[in-house]
Amino acid sequence: MSLEIRDLHVDVMTESGPKEILKGVDLTINPGEVHAIMGPNGSGKSTLAYALMGHPKYTITSGSVVLDGVDLTRLAVDERARAGLFLAMQYPVEVPGVSVANFLRTAKTALSGEAPKVRTWVKEVNAALAHMDLDPSFSARSVNEGFSGGEKKRSDIAQLGLLGPKYAVLDETDSGLDIDALRVVADGVNRYLADGTHGVLLITHYSRVLQYIKPTVVHVYMDGRIVASGGPELADRLEAEGYEQFEARADA
Ligand code: ADP
Ligand code: MG
Repeated sequence: MSLEIRDLHVDVMTESGPKEILKGVDLTINPGEVHAIMGPNGSGKSTLAYALMGHPKYTITSGSVVLDGVDLTRLAVDERARAGLFLAMQYPVEVPGVSVANFLRTAKTALSGEAPKVRTWVKEVNAALAHMDLDPSFSARSVNEGFSGGEKKRSDIAQLGLLGPKYAVLDETDSGLDIDALRVVADGVNRYLADGTHGVLLITHYSRVLQYIKPTVVHVYMDGRIVASGGPELADRLEAEGYEQFEARADA
């Protein structure tokens, strides 16, 4: 059981043709583990997140992604979700006309193969929203439409709690949150992790979130690959000294 990323190379399609962004990412996440990926702007963190989930703009040119023995590399987005992968995007997409309640119900049905029982489901949804400090009236609103930055992130984590995927990729879910919202989001992620059966890939460029969500491993990520890995102390070192010290290795 693990999410295993092996020598992943990914191209993004640009106007002037394909451009390699990921240059050999290796990473194994076991159940119960939190792997933090810390890297500067433009280092390819979101590209990694999108490539894992199967965004059509990003092409895996070599390497593999295997989730609990299932090779995701050639699967469509919905198949990857059914296999147990979840992505909270850095910039959540607004879906006008689709209510949060409908969206969650459709997602749950697609993932489990049967519609959730109406009575218990509504309670579950309201409890998940309440956990994230969101009013029950959020159910009736269009997905992410007019949500503040913090509300988008909090509803993503409510979704994570309800759907309970095996592995979650959280792309800068901490960015733009004030300290109270950061705590609420971190509590939600820790609740998801509590039973030890789930793994998290936590993408961030600030170490602050790691005070609330304890990483098993911290990876320094530059120019499309991991250049150093270590314990939580690596995040403190980054905070104190910056990314420059790793630059030479990324260029090598
Ligand atoms: P990060 O999330 O670490 O800030 P990204 O993965 O968003 O980095 O971007 C990595 C690099 O890939 C950047 O130089 C960015 O401009 C480029 N890139 C990503 N997506 C696209 C795209 N759709 N078209 C062109 N360039 C892209
Ligand atoms: Mg990004």
